[in-house]
Amino acid sequence: MAVPQRRTSKTRRDKRRTHFKLEVPGMVKCEQCGEFKLSHRVCKNCGSYKGREIIKAQ
Ligand SMILES: [Zn+2]
Repeated sequence: MAVPQRRTSKTRRDKRRTHFKLEVPGMVKCEQCGEFKLSHRVCKNCGSYKGREIIKAQ
């Protein structure tokens, strides 16, 4: 059975865990209303994309 030759140091262990994140990536602020939205998607709050491309009127 394969066994690690060396104990993983605290630094190495913690560096590995820098990728463990809570937030969902790809969230940006909407230019129109300032709400968080997914990038490259139409804002679900105000229905705009890239400045003023209004999809649906609320
Ligand atoms: Zn918006």
